[in-house]
Amino acid sequence: MGNSIIDYELRLVVEKVAVDSQSVVKRDTIKVYDVTAPESILDLGLQHEEQISLIGKVQNAVIAEQAKLIDPGYSVCPKCEHKLKKNGHTKSNFHAVLSDHKTPIQKHQCTHPDCN
Ligand SMILES: [Zn+2]
Repeated sequence: MGNSIIDYELRLVVEKVAVDSQSVVKRDTIKVYDVTAPESILDLGLQHEEQISLIGKVQNAVIAEQAKLIDPGYSVCPKCEHKLKKNGHTKSNFHAVLSDHKTPIQKHQCTHPDCN
């Protein structure tokens, strides 16, 4: 028989799950770690920089879903009261304790030609 050593990696996955049906609607691998034998105690676990990076990726996943739920609170133009239409996204800066993020926020534009 040949060499039967199996290599493994650890995959960290974020799943978006419909609460009622428990069906997975989105699944993103945010990190993959090789599993290798530690050469010293210093190789055990994740290094500080990697820990910060991991929290940043988890935050991004949470923020991306929360950003979709942000409601501007009005459906008509605050100036002329014409209907608003969606007008792409803008990135808004958000600073968390351990990481900085750019959050996509839905932009709106007035449909009145003189107002815009
Ligand atoms: Zn307007």
